[in-house]
Amino acid sequence: MTHIAPQPGIMDIALYEGGAAHVKGMSNVTKLSSNENPLGPSPKAIEAMQAAVAQMHRYPSSDHASLRGAIGDVYGLPAEQIICGAGSDEIIAFLCQAYAGPGDEVLFTEHGFAMYRISALAAGATPVEVRERERVTDVDALIEGCTDRTRLVFIANPNNPTGTMISTAELARLADGIPKQAILVLDGAYAEYVEGYDAGASLVASRDNVVMTRTFSKIYGLGGARVGWGYAPKPIIDVLNRIRGPFNLSSTALAAAEAAVRDTAYTEHCRKENATWRSWLAEALAELGIPSDTSCANFILARFASAQEAESCDAYLQSRGLIVRRVAGYKLPAALRMTVGDEASCRALAAAVKDFKDTHS
Ligand SMILES: *Cc1c(COP(=O)(O)O)cnc(C)c1O
Repeated sequence: MTHIAPQPGIMDIALYEGGAAHVKGMSNVTKLSSNENPLGPSPKAIEAMQAAVAQMHRYPSSDHASLRGAIGDVYGLPAEQIICGAGSDEIIAFLCQAYAGPGDEVLFTEHGFAMYRISALAAGATPVEVRERERVTDVDALIEGCTDRTRLVFIANPNNPTGTMISTAELARLADGIPKQAILVLDGAYAEYVEGYDAGASLVASRDNVVMTRTFSKIYGLGGARVGWGYAPKPIIDVLNRIRGPFNLSSTALAAAEAAVRDTAYTEHCRKENATWRSWLAEALAELGIPSDTSCANFILARFASAQEAESCDAYLQSRGLIVRRVAGYKLPAALRMTVGDEASCRALAAAVKDFKDTHS
């Protein structure tokens, strides 16, 4: 018997499964499984990253001052209350590592993002899942789910994989309703897709128990670069910076993210394109008898009659080179999550689903 064993909780972690990218025997596929921006990053971000490559022998900035300044300018936030991470996944991990340990509880919702559970377990804390109300975050259930052990409450707004969201008034009610020792984390990975939504920034500014996380992986089209950020009260930022690796972001990633966030015209273009094709796709699916909740993000959660139908539609789509996301792991076995692609992808997807319906029912 070995004496070498990991910390408690680690072996309870089910490995994260990313969206599939390949179909066996097919070279030309359309990936609609990871909510990536089909238009790619801003050309200015690509240019900035290429220019940064020549300085690769230098260590990157450790304080990320330039990127934090750009984020502060664009979003109207104080740069000293911003922290950058290798994706927002790293900010989520910092929060769990810093604020939750053995005996502590980390709350999230029924269909919540997989990284909340993984990061809670990695920190040795106890993940606690609360119900949603018809695929919508239920503030009352979250407040009722809190105990004197609760240290973190995570919700994504809009949520993944449901695409639904709750109002800022509801977010405020949640922030005010959780116990004093707990932090509310508002994951705004899809916030840029919602016109006029501040992702909860005003709640961070007016309270000492709210943190917002954001990412460059979705509307900014930089999932491969791994950049995310958080906005929090200064005392929390000071804590997180103590456990952040000094060189957690590469110089190329920093350069790309800064150019991307400053290119607000491109971001706006991506937001509009997404809104147009999201409505188009939702309507096309509805006409085929496949309902979905109104999505506030860059994907649609298509609901099928049964898990079996969802599964066979997924297999059929793959045979047509279209990769969408099974979400049985998110307790939604009869649904498929479909990223809103570009026009051609949306048309191809709707046509394939129609052919599936015509031949399978
Ligand atoms: C995609 C996604 C993220 C982003 O993760 P990164 O580590 O920034 O790539 C965060 N939260 C949710 C809910 C997501 O769907």
